[in-house]
Amino acid sequence: MKCNLKTLSFHELELILAEMGEKTYHARQISRWLYQRGVADFAAMTDISQSLRRKLDEGYYISEIPLVEVRTGEDGCSKYVFRLPEGFDIESVLIPDQGRLTLCISTQLGCRQGCRFCLTSRMGFIRNLLAHEICDQVIQVKKRLPEEKTTLNIVLMGMGEPLDNYQQTISAIRLMTSPLGLNISPRHITLSTAGLVEELYRLRQEKLGINLAVSINAPFEDLRSWLMPVNRRYSLEYLLKALRDFPLPARQRFTIEYILIGGVNDSPEAARQLCRLLRGIPCKINLIPYNPNPFLNFRECTEKSLEQFQQILIQHHLTATVRRSRGRDIGAACGQLGYVRYRMRQAELTHSATKSA
Ligand code: SF4
Repeated sequence: MKCNLKTLSFHELELILAEMGEKTYHARQISRWLYQRGVADFAAMTDISQSLRRKLDEGYYISEIPLVEVRTGEDGCSKYVFRLPEGFDIESVLIPDQGRLTLCISTQLGCRQGCRFCLTSRMGFIRNLLAHEICDQVIQVKKRLPEEKTTLNIVLMGMGEPLDNYQQTISAIRLMTSPLGLNISPRHITLSTAGLVEELYRLRQEKLGINLAVSINAPFEDLRSWLMPVNRRYSLEYLLKALRDFPLPARQRFTIEYILIGGVNDSPEAARQLCRLLRGIPCKINLIPYNPNPFLNFRECTEKSLEQFQQILIQHHLTATVRRSRGRDIGAACGQLGYVRYRMRQAELTHSATKSA
């Protein structure tokens, strides 16, 4: 049985090289090939001797989650679909915006948080992604970008709740930020959470230097518990206390995500309550108009209520920007990921299992 090289830490890589009677400095070369050049074949590691490549090939393999589809929408957003070994797919979304590129990646197959407005939640929870599966989405998209030097912002905001897959998410972030890994500045990485408070307190100790986004979506406990069941475990009060306790570096702010759903959480009263809650918390607010879809019984907020909501926040000296949904036509917009494809794959896999039985 060969072992997946991408599951080894840098130190473990050095150890196996030493055991092979090789110089440990090769670990640096191998890491660069794996994470910065994204090769999945020892033969491509041309600055390593053939004999070492052969030895590596005898005991190890390099995993890569196959990219099965790339769809680009009218607004330039692209959805990348990767197939996991069990046959189900995860999705990442590349969003070009005013010269910047943002890649939204997944951390779980499905999600157990059950947010009512989110299609991923309809899949339920299937499994956590491994650190190398989380990083592979970045490696593979980066490899396909036309300009090698384009700065890529990474947001852990795709399928799944990153803090519900705590260990693998932290390992993936460490690999992304390590100079021996993907070498991405922590300032270009944002972790988005629905508000898992215990994990937020754990995250404080990690000192990752990344940005943090928190989905609030409702400023009243009852409404938030209905929209986001995580609120029954970690109330708004407890969550906001955790944000106040979180040591942010100077000039850094939290991003507060607020999906505006027509007739549900878009009233002026909700806006005023949100202002009260956020008092004293260094933050900027992203207002995201809800993306309607045929599976969920919610509607988009009107332009008028969106404008009114934003104005109230601004009048209370909060920074509030509207994040227009991108990639709607390819099912890549916020809250749209995973479900449709999951149902399709379920049907395909059941069909082929029945055929071969
Ligand atoms: S919004 Fe995020 S946390 Fe909530 S169900 Fe969807 S993927 Fe999970």
